[in-house]
Amino acid sequence: MTAVDARLTRPLPDAGTLTWGQSQGRACIWCRRLLSHGAVMVGVIHDQVGAHRLRTEVWAGPCCLRSDQ
Ligand SMILES: [Zn+2]
Repeated sequence: MTAVDARLTRPLPDAGTLTWGQSQGRACIWCRRLLSHGAVMVGVIHDQVGAHRLRTEVWAGPCCLRSDQ
């Protein structure tokens, strides 16, 4: 499975809508399920808060990557 394919098949949510788990890379970016194994980094969400630019790596689990298999 490849991260690139998953990123191209689904848009990433807006940075402001992420749960704590999602922003920490502990929950699936699309279904918010907690990740345990088989997680793949599917992209980076950029956000800006004042002068600070935030870069959040987001992950998805097998729950949302089945189309790759
Ligand atoms: Zn999922």
